[in-house]
Amino acid sequence: MRLPSRAGRATTAAAALLLAGCATNPVTGGREFSLMTEGQEVSIGRDADEQIREQMGLYDSPALQGYVADLGHRLAALSHRPNLPWQFAVVDSPAVNAFALPGGYIYLTRGILAYLGDEAELAGVLGHEIGHVTARHSVQAYTRATGAQFGLLLGQIFVPAMRANPYGGPGLADAAGYGLGVLMLRFGRDDEIQADRLGAEYSAAGGWHPAGVAGMLSTLGRISEQSDRRGVPNWLSTHPEPAARVGDVAPTVARLLETAEASTLRVDRSGYLERIVGVRFGDNPEEGIARGREFVHPVLRFGVEFPRGWEIRNSPTVVVASRPDRGAYMALQLAEEGQSAALQEIARRDTPRDARNVSGSAATINGLEAHIRSYQRDVDDIGPAAVRAAYVRHDGRVYVLGGVIPVADFTRLERAVDSSIRSFRGLTAEEVESILPNEIALYEAVAGDTWERIAQQAGGELVPAATLAIMNGHAPDEPPVAGVRLKIVVQGQPVG
Ligand SMILES: [Zn+2]
Repeated sequence: MRLPSRAGRATTAAAALLLAGCATNPVTGGREFSLMTEGQEVSIGRDADEQIREQMGLYDSPALQGYVADLGHRLAALSHRPNLPWQFAVVDSPAVNAFALPGGYIYLTRGILAYLGDEAELAGVLGHEIGHVTARHSVQAYTRATGAQFGLLLGQIFVPAMRANPYGGPGLADAAGYGLGVLMLRFGRDDEIQADRLGAEYSAAGGWHPAGVAGMLSTLGRISEQSDRRGVPNWLSTHPEPAARVGDVAPTVARLLETAEASTLRVDRSGYLERIVGVRFGDNPEEGIARGREFVHPVLRFGVEFPRGWEIRNSPTVVVASRPDRGAYMALQLAEEGQSAALQEIARRDTPRDARNVSGSAATINGLEAHIRSYQRDVDDIGPAAVRAAYVRHDGRVYVLGGVIPVADFTRLERAVDSSIRSFRGLTAEEVESILPNEIALYEAVAGDTWERIAQQAGGELVPAATLAIMNGHAPDEPPVAGVRLKIVVQGQPVG
């Protein structure tokens, strides 16, 4: 969650889609119906690139950016479309993801770097995304995408779009803030298999071991099996079925290994590990972080406890906690800044016209002025829902924290939602100082190590043992191997 940016702007390239045409697919050589010329493709990518840099931000490490971009350019030069204005960047997001925009704009999150095991896997991810661009999947998916995305809806649960984005246009800027809306293109299974194959081919052509593609797919498959995954939207929502794709890419890898000098192919595990030491892991504390069931924000100086076992997801515009089945959720948003309007008035303005059984009352929550609003309305994906939202004034801002619960479950969940609402509190200076970012470090496994023991020693279980195993290319039930250097997560330096 972060304060709205005054520079926020809503960009739409939809106008470029009005001109339809026919183009040659650079990979297959076949003719296909396309809604875009290459010039339009590049211009859409360029506009969206601006939006991504602004909304997600680039990860602040010139050395790491240079490393990834250099590798990307070497692969792109060997691809089917070497002349696109290729750009490669690491965005400052903890989600495990990589994505490509039309025109050759490619992004890796810092989150995915923690899960790659060596340079061949990094080449595999970059080659895969380059493949989506060269085979024009990005163009095709872009023309299918619509603005009606989950994130857009979530961003507007309590705060109408116009007020949630006082500096941008309604809707689109909010979608971009949550999950980049239409830019998070979803590909079909055939496109994924083709991109995996192209990724292996480009990797091998560049001198990297093509099995890096299979290696990174295995890791991403393990992440999808792990139940407590966080950080959506991620690779899994945009790149389906990674585990099954390991088998699909195997024949391509085997064919490439027949023609290449296998001994000269680069894997470079130790070089890769050295590059990612110190890279931030998990949420940026500046935007608030989840610690267990608690969400704390050191800049806005507040803390909230969400119901036990609910999954917390943070984004620039909204913090969402959802029941594991996604059938009920709570959201926390900034409702007003720098205004002294009465809380009751703000709550009344935010209540949708179709709300039923509306009631409200003044309250004090941990010493803070509050107004609690309850009503019922029909909500997409849930049906008849009970909504309870508290408007809380803290440090000159008004926050709204509330639950959206199926009416049928309300009696059972009412207490959990109420106690979460009543947990909103200001943080002391000591608490603010205790909120530290996590980062990647290296550790050499010794005989008898288990993932549990390493997770404990590394910093009081900052990440679960299973996550540590998966980050290091193992299934959670495969023990670490003595003498091997591993990635671990440690506490970094205080913020600011
Ligand atoms: Zn993909």
